[in-house]
Amino acid sequence: MKRTVFESEHEQLRATAREFLARECAPHVEKWEANGQVDREVYKKAGDAGLLGFNMPEEYGGGGSTDFRFNAVVAEELSRFGGAAPGLTLQNDVVAPYFLHLANDEQKKRWMPGIASGETILAVAMTEPGAGSDLAGIKTTAKRDGDHYIVNGNKTFISAGINSDLVVVVCRTNPDPSAGHKAFSLLVVERDMEGFERGRKLDKMGLKAADTAELHFTDVRVPAENLLGEEGKGFYHLMQNLPSERLSIGVSAIAGARAVFEETLQYVKDRKAFGQPIGSFQHNRFVLAEMSTELDIAEQYIDRCLRAVLDGELTAVDASKNKWWCTELAKKVIDQCVQLHGGYGYMNEYRVARAYTDSRIQTIFGGTTEIMKDLIGRDMGL
Ligand SMILES: Cc1cc2nc3c(=O)[nH]c(=O)nc-3n(C[C@H](O)[C@H](O)[C@H](O)COP(=O)(O)OP(=O)(O)OC[C@H]3O[C@@H](n4cnc5c(N)ncnc54)[C@H](O)[C@@H]3O)c2cc1C
Repeated sequence: MKRTVFESEHEQLRATAREFLARECAPHVEKWEANGQVDREVYKKAGDAGLLGFNMPEEYGGGGSTDFRFNAVVAEELSRFGGAAPGLTLQNDVVAPYFLHLANDEQKKRWMPGIASGETILAVAMTEPGAGSDLAGIKTTAKRDGDHYIVNGNKTFISAGINSDLVVVVCRTNPDPSAGHKAFSLLVVERDMEGFERGRKLDKMGLKAADTAELHFTDVRVPAENLLGEEGKGFYHLMQNLPSERLSIGVSAIAGARAVFEETLQYVKDRKAFGQPIGSFQHNRFVLAEMSTELDIAEQYIDRCLRAVLDGELTAVDASKNKWWCTELAKKVIDQCVQLHGGYGYMNEYRVARAYTDSRIQTIFGGTTEIMKDLIGRDMGL
């Protein structure tokens, strides 16, 4: 079904992203996957190509756009490219909005030009070894000491954990257990601060070129000017930003699944068994028809959500519905595409095999399917 949400300027950025990925990323995939991280320089090149910072204010070198459809086309192209794409959606859709919405003028001046140009790589560190879905269990502390905070604790599973220059760290600033959600604040920890160490680069089943890492903080003295937003409001700030992250994950999931589906469609026309193309067996034809229908429906829902963002109407619940449904559908579609490829679908030289492991995280990170359903259920008064 034709998508009508994107206009010519979005399609121009899509074409730029596609060309950039082919030119600057495709030749390096093997090396990046072997190293477990992309080269830092690719962020700067992405900035030069206009794929970063389009949502940052013009006075700081950004594009000045507030139109999330630009984020969406970049996310779709990265996902179509595959799991070795650099983490530009993490930068654009997940972490930059914290700076956009919470930074004061001095912080904007200090950090935004680098974020927009790609010289500064961002990460956000919420998850800890003992606290993922239940963020209230965060143990990393930030204790005020004059004009500094002293940060102690450990984070894990942090995307761009190794490459990042600025990490938005969720810390407990109020040790009083009765403080509840008001106990947390966001602090920006910078690359070379003493006591900030990168731990293991984690060995994952997929997304081999993404540096997902442990971070350790031992008596890190973080200047109070690095507090993002208000002290004690960290949780509220997270809740404000998570909808765009969740929408972005849904967008990426369906674009990736669509790309795998299209390749599979060609495969089932070419591959023959019992004297006929495997796609023409009635069972497979039905499976393919169902996938085609479901992908169309998902895209229409995504496009409706993108319009809702434009109109300032996207709710946290809408974003949660989008996130769980799109990522679960992508998981199902890619699994069925593996099946349709037979043994070849299990071989890493085929895109479908890599997509199977690369995409598996999508129902987990950014809030699991169960947590999304919990949010939706609570909103219905359950
Ligand atoms: C590749 C990768 C990248 C990541 N990037 C980042 C990042 O950049 N920054 C960051 O902070 N984190 C990141 N994460 C962490 C990710 O967000 C968490 O793994 C995720 O939120 C789940 O938390 P958990 O792993 O602690 O699982 P748990 O919270 O222990 O959950 C385990 C299972 O229990 C279920 N469960 C938990 N609570 C409930 C409930 N109330 N009802 C029903 N079921 C429930 C969950 O749905 C899940 O199935 C990343 C993780 C991975 C693997």
